[in-house]
Amino acid sequence: MMLMKRSKVIPKPSSQFLSVECKKCNNSMVVYSHTTSKIYCKVCNELLAENTGGKAIIYGKIIKRLDNP
Ligand SMILES: [Zn+2]
Repeated sequence: MMLMKRSKVIPKPSSQFLSVECKKCNNSMVVYSHTTSKIYCKVCNELLAENTGGKAIIYGKIIKRLDNP
């Protein structure tokens, strides 16, 4: 039996690291929410995130937020 630790949701700065899953090939990658460049999937080259000057647009599926980058 596996016990999963649940981390509490705590207020934090708006920038964070996200674990994003590619919709095409299901590869997951860590993407910074305020990335300053475009992030492509390493496997299939699909665009996963695009910089906007502020918060990035995430095109992939966000599977989790990493609290401690
Ligand atoms: Zn992919």
